[in-house]
Amino acid sequence: MDSYTQKMNFFGNTDPEELVTKYGSPLFVYNEDILRRQMRRVAGLLPNHRFTSNFSIKTNSNLSILKIAYEEGLNADAMSPGEIYALKKAGFPSERIFYVSNNVSEDEMQYAIDEGVIVSVDSLSQLEMFGRLNRGGKLSVRINPGVGAGHHDKVVTAGKKTKFGVAAQDIEKIRDVAAKYDLHIIGLNQHIGSLFMDYKPFLEACRNFLHYAEEFDELEFLDFGGGFGTPYHKLADEQEFDIETFKKELDALLTEWKKTSGRDVLFKTEPGRYIVAEGGVLLGKVHSVKENYGHKYVGTDIGMNVLMRPELYDSWHDVEIYREGKPVTEGEREVYSVVGNICESGDIVAKDRELPVTHEHDVVCILDAGAYGFSMSSNYNNRLRPAEVLIHSDGSDSLIRRRETLEDLMRCFDI
Ligand SMILES: *Cc1c(COP(=O)(O)O)cnc(C)c1O
Repeated sequence: MDSYTQKMNFFGNTDPEELVTKYGSPLFVYNEDILRRQMRRVAGLLPNHRFTSNFSIKTNSNLSILKIAYEEGLNADAMSPGEIYALKKAGFPSERIFYVSNNVSEDEMQYAIDEGVIVSVDSLSQLEMFGRLNRGGKLSVRINPGVGAGHHDKVVTAGKKTKFGVAAQDIEKIRDVAAKYDLHIIGLNQHIGSLFMDYKPFLEACRNFLHYAEEFDELEFLDFGGGFGTPYHKLADEQEFDIETFKKELDALLTEWKKTSGRDVLFKTEPGRYIVAEGGVLLGKVHSVKENYGHKYVGTDIGMNVLMRPELYDSWHDVEIYREGKPVTEGEREVYSVVGNICESGDIVAKDRELPVTHEHDVVCILDAGAYGFSMSSNYNNRLRPAEVLIHSDGSDSLIRRRETLEDLMRCFDI
């Protein structure tokens, strides 16, 4: 029986055991073909319209992956000056970057303005700030339509109880502030939440969003946001986000809108996870297997500093076990919690999972770790952030970010 990663030939010419021997453990491994496949799917979302897809780089800001996104024709969303900086380093020109700002300082806003990046403001007070800094400038405003969607409260990013965007009922006020500073509102954006597998609420949000567009005369673009889901339960045959049907329905909606409103703008989306989650896995090593009061634990080097999602959102990641380079898919199974090496009881990557009987030195492969994986990792417990490796289309592998060293931990101290 093949494992998922084997079926996908995820590791190319090598196997996970060789990879961790060569590059160390834990290790983020990306598959270039899968990344490009996902990028092409989003880039080709609306062939009948003026359209660009942005890649939300908070999901994965590895420079090599950003360069691939650039090659595939994606634009990019930045959420901070650091992300703008990284995008520039990866070769993105300003006009292909969109800064979705949230509660930023004047310095940060000024940085984006100086870099020539279009900014989206997130409140009336930040609209005022933009006006003071850049009278007569062009910008986008993030609208909070009052409804959201997502897999967990923490990732619902629109709705009456979230901090994001300008409430739709304040559209009149947006126009007043813009007039006060001679601002040109050339874009409207929204992002209702993250990880929905059913496109219908998103499509409804797009339909609703189009009405706001009609309130602004100078609009050049409309950005519908991201959030397209990833099947994290793929080993239980969870189906992919149905991008083909979504594509047809969105196309029909926009065609109809252009006809009835007489408007034509550039449409944008800004997915992140959908683009990179499945193209990345996280490898780690089993250092101990034990039983405490009837519960079995697989103790690994995959701490919550390396993969934050299970701790932060109770997220599910499928797990595969490799032994001597081969996936263990047959034989006896046991229920284990796969845990890390951090001094926190919440340091659990996968809770109560039925897995093959696992031994020390086995390699644990955490699936769908390409989004919000490395980018959320930290040095908690003074652990080193892992290396990242890319498996190329020809099956070869290369290091795309070196592992941190103990010296890196001292970088900011004057000693
Ligand atoms: C996080 C975020 C995205 C991307 O969300 P995904 O669920 O990863 O697609 C897009 N736009 C904004 C404004 C975001 O904050």
